[in-house]
Amino acid sequence: MKIGVLALQGAFIEHKNVLARLGIPSVEVRLPEHLTGLDGLIIPGGESTTIGLLAQKWGLLEPLRAFARSGRPIWGTCAGMILMAREVVDGLPNQPILELMDITVRRNAFGRQVDSFEADLPVPVLGDPPFHAVFIRAPLVERVGARVDVLASLEDGTAVAVRQGHMLATAFHPELTGDVRFHRYFLQLTG
Ligand code: GLN
Repeated sequence: MKIGVLALQGAFIEHKNVLARLGIPSVEVRLPEHLTGLDGLIIPGGESTTIGLLAQKWGLLEPLRAFARSGRPIWGTCAGMILMAREVVDGLPNQPILELMDITVRRNAFGRQVDSFEADLPVPVLGDPPFHAVFIRAPLVERVGARVDVLASLEDGTAVAVRQGHMLATAFHPELTGDVRFHRYFLQLTG
């Protein structure tokens, strides 16, 4: 098994480190040809506008959509979640996104005062204990389509982890904690 990590900007090294801990080889994806032979792809946190514009510049948007259509799993964390969404609220005008999941995401949703926080999140598909989730200028999921499963929500009911078939998105950063359960869950989606 080999997993790609989109390495245009943001926290891609941290994802590679977790994969290495799990004994999974990973590849930094910067060009369409880097997608060849991969079993799955992670889109890291960072700045969604920058990642989207660089993906557009390097001709990656359509190859990434084709990768998803081929049935291989993609997981977006934080900025990556924004790229996965069909619709972005408070994005930049014409911010390039992949539109792979039937969700509406609000960018920088938690405002300036509380733009970063941590929460112990119950995630039923991961079992006990709760997952320690780190939110950094995180988006939230404002609308969830009929075919999307909510994997985790904040206490107020806000969805922060969602899955649609082999597509996964989390508003927080599992690569920044020592907990590898979300990465393991994603690896299972490769079949
Ligand atoms: N606020 C960033 C964005 O809009 C996301 C932050 C993150 O990935 N930690 O893309």
